[in-house]
Amino acid sequence: MEDLSYKKKNVYEEADDATMGRIEAFAQKYKDFLSYAKTERDAVKLSVAMAERAGYKPFRFGDTLAVGDKRYYNNRGKSLFLFTVGGEDIARTGVRILAAHIDSPRLDIRPVPLYERAGGAFFKTHYYGGLKKYQWTAVPLALHGVVSLSDGTVRDVIVGEDENDPVFYISDLLPHLAQKQSERKLAVGIEGEELNLWVGGMPEQKGEKEGQEKKEKDRVKARVLRLLNQKYGIREEDFLTAELTAVPALKPRDVGFDGAYIAAYGHDDKVCAFPALMAQLEYEGKDTTMTVLADKEEIGSEGVTGMQCAVFTDLLAEICAARGANERAVRAASACLSADVTSAYDPTFADAFEKNNAAVCSCGVALMKYTGARGKSGSSDAGGEFMGRIAARLNAAGVIWQTSELGKVDLGGGGTVAKYIASKNIDTVDVGTPVISMHSPYELISKGDLYQTYFAFRVFFR
Ligand code: MN
Ligand code: MN
Repeated sequence: MEDLSYKKKNVYEEADDATMGRIEAFAQKYKDFLSYAKTERDAVKLSVAMAERAGYKPFRFGDTLAVGDKRYYNNRGKSLFLFTVGGEDIARTGVRILAAHIDSPRLDIRPVPLYERAGGAFFKTHYYGGLKKYQWTAVPLALHGVVSLSDGTVRDVIVGEDENDPVFYISDLLPHLAQKQSERKLAVGIEGEELNLWVGGMPEQKGEKEGQEKKEKDRVKARVLRLLNQKYGIREEDFLTAELTAVPALKPRDVGFDGAYIAAYGHDDKVCAFPALMAQLEYEGKDTTMTVLADKEEIGSEGVTGMQCAVFTDLLAEICAARGANERAVRAASACLSADVTSAYDPTFADAFEKNNAAVCSCGVALMKYTGARGKSGSSDAGGEFMGRIAARLNAAGVIWQTSELGKVDLGGGGTVAKYIASKNIDTVDVGTPVISMHSPYELISKGDLYQTYFAFRVFFR
């Protein structure tokens, strides 16, 4: 029976001192990355800098590619493709692809955001991705993004990350007065129109705007606008075209007396994007590999920076053309790990999971044959033969892995970029880190699982 039955392994139980050291060292690098890379723009900026240090050069469509090239394609500062050009017959070996996403749920600032009410100035927000709105109140928030000014310059804005910066805030009703609110269903405990950011509270004083009469109305708003203008050259009209977002102003922290876990904003999906990036940058083999850091996964992989955009196949076509290979044959021979997180079994909410088929924290990186909802709908459902091939490679290298389903069959579901890659005739399976409190302002992962995710991606490229 012992020999025949399957049992999950625990990363920490299996690890010797040397492995524990590597787990801790990789966790530290990840926390450094994640403290900075909160939005897709931040992640692209940092990843490009890391890629250049690793010898990667920018690629433009039409450039000639040569065997041995290490290139990156920065798509509008919001998604990133990194690839090596191998010397093998790629129509036979294909391209090995890791695809993660670098956008995370957050609160975007609306085009006409600023208003004054009762001595306070506020920004209206529009949430991005699937989130439980009530979780985003009463936590410190930072603003990230870009504003295009009327003179054509584009200003980067980051406020709330430096220790000395102010942060922003969304209020919730005090429990003393929440009798009516408490009767609302959880999903509408806080509603979209209630996610209003506190951005100011001091009125413009007399004499501060010389030669102008003190306006009685909206003096707090006026002061916010003046401060924004002084610091960034922004006028109210510039918000109409700006791209600003509010993200938790929280740093990654170790969790537990033993530091087994990391809590942070944006594990979904930087906990896969960072290991994928590292596996790509450290790859010294002779094959053609590609890592995709996609945007817009949280809202359906749409748009010019989402996984559905033709830029992905256009880049594959460029590599094929440079190698004189038939692109259709190359795609047919390629393989992809859709590197995205899955839900981790939470004993406090055990009812939502079917325990045998849930990923458990610290039991390794999770393989997900399928995602989807209500009968696998919307899932690309990887083939058994391909699953077997991937599992054999991971086993041979000693990667600790488990399988995962999001939760109980009828409870809900979700998707990833997998189906958009599979639809290009590329074998694809979801592989990623289990996450607790997914899509919350402060998610939780196990350092052991993070390390096994990185290990799995290295093995896949090897
Ligand atoms: Mn994800
Ligand atoms: Mn997600």
